[in-house]
Amino acid sequence: MRVLFVSSEAHPLVKTGGLGDVAGALPQALVAEGVDVRLLIPAYRQVLDHLDTVEPLISLGDQLGMGEVRVLQGVSHALPLSIWLVDCPVLFDRPGGPYQDQQGVDWVDNGLRFALFSRVAALLGVTGRLTGWYPDLIHLNDWQSGLVPVWLRQWGASRPATLFTIHNLQYQGLFPKTLMSEIGLPDHFYDMHGLEYHQQLSMLKGGLYYADRLSTVSPTYALEVQSEEMGEGLNGLLSDRREQLVGILNGIDTRIWDPQHDPDIAAPFDKERLDERDRNRAPLLIEMGLPVTEPRVPLFGLVSRLVPQKGVDLLLAALPEVLESGAQLVVLGSGMPLLEQQLRQMQQQWPTQLAVWVGYSEPLAHRLVAGVDVLLVPSRFEPCGLTQMYALRYGALPLVRKTGGLADTVDEQSGFLFEEVSVESLRGAMNQVLDAFQDQAAWRERQQYAMGRALDWSRSAKQYKAVYQQLLPTDTGSMK
Ligand code: ADP
Repeated sequence: MRVLFVSSEAHPLVKTGGLGDVAGALPQALVAEGVDVRLLIPAYRQVLDHLDTVEPLISLGDQLGMGEVRVLQGVSHALPLSIWLVDCPVLFDRPGGPYQDQQGVDWVDNGLRFALFSRVAALLGVTGRLTGWYPDLIHLNDWQSGLVPVWLRQWGASRPATLFTIHNLQYQGLFPKTLMSEIGLPDHFYDMHGLEYHQQLSMLKGGLYYADRLSTVSPTYALEVQSEEMGEGLNGLLSDRREQLVGILNGIDTRIWDPQHDPDIAAPFDKERLDERDRNRAPLLIEMGLPVTEPRVPLFGLVSRLVPQKGVDLLLAALPEVLESGAQLVVLGSGMPLLEQQLRQMQQQWPTQLAVWVGYSEPLAHRLVAGVDVLLVPSRFEPCGLTQMYALRYGALPLVRKTGGLADTVDEQSGFLFEEVSVESLRGAMNQVLDAFQDQAAWRERQQYAMGRALDWSRSAKQYKAVYQQLLPTDTGSMK
């Protein structure tokens, strides 16, 4: 079974969030299940800089008037996979992030960039003779690859099956209608039953409308996206397609997130050696500039993009009362300037109890999860969420809102849950932590239970493989 796995990011080459983690780990887990996978990502400058070797595989000529487009083959010791890269220097070889410039502003040509990326993925689906490798299925991820099934539909030829995975319905890839002619898509696709979404072209809708099968990254989110409340205006389409929609829970890369062999943390540990775990606490507090208190007070942590989705505003409002009790909180995050600023201001008011590190740091994320007692994930919605799973594995009890993948991965024994999107509910759950922390013996039992949860990718990879298998014989003419 040959699968082209198409993603706009893949850890450790390039990552802005959970999609990067998934695209770095799931393809490897699929290979372990016997699937022949090629990972396709854009040849961003930062990716080219990370690779050990890069060689040209094929040239596709000038595709969208942006100069020669090539597919390169990359090798990375850090990502042991067959990596194919869409090379179009005008669009991808530039400093900055995958979607934004160094100032955090979206690239103005994102529409063109990901239209081209999708077009190349579709071409690889139908022109296997160029590479000698014909995918049976193209696995698409989020709006950046949403046009793939549209190109395939347009060309109409015998084609591979498509599975489109929704990692976050809020990011839709909306562009002006004029992009249609720029990228050479016929107008008939610009329709309510097609790409049009409130007078814009929605790349996400391309995936949702035209892919053979849809998935979300947790079973609960698969239900939530069909509701008016959480469906981002696409709930009608998603509930129409519910027979083709499945929720498969993400796993985590248990080699990268392994408390027994984590090079970034002060003291390795496992569930039988929780005393060792405690040795990660003081170095974290010192690194974050907080005093090491005796007797010990509960230490909360947050590792997150700082955006409204993540409930950071709720946390800011709930915090003063919790800090009154003496608890401490360490925050690692970046995102909306307003939230960054509010966190910093609060830090000035509580300098011995609140520490905020604005920025992005993988090693610090590891140290934080290893050192805190409780990891906060008070999200308004959460398609799957990975940090709560890292927390479980590292014995930091997660405190989460009961939504999406958080509801599917955390229970009353392994963590703390609250239901309502409200400051009171969050504060209530944080107060519950303060009470529970008094009984250290019970706390340890909960940590051991949390750390014993199976979270690796193998189970999900088997589920994806089963979906691939269902798609092959019926929906496509296989192109061997
Ligand atoms: P999302 O994809 O919505 O951002 P997830 O929980 O699925 O949320 O994935 C977030 C990923 O990004 C996790 O691997 C988390 O550790 C990481 N992350 C988020 N913010 C930071 C940060 N400031 N520094 C380091 N890692 C971060």
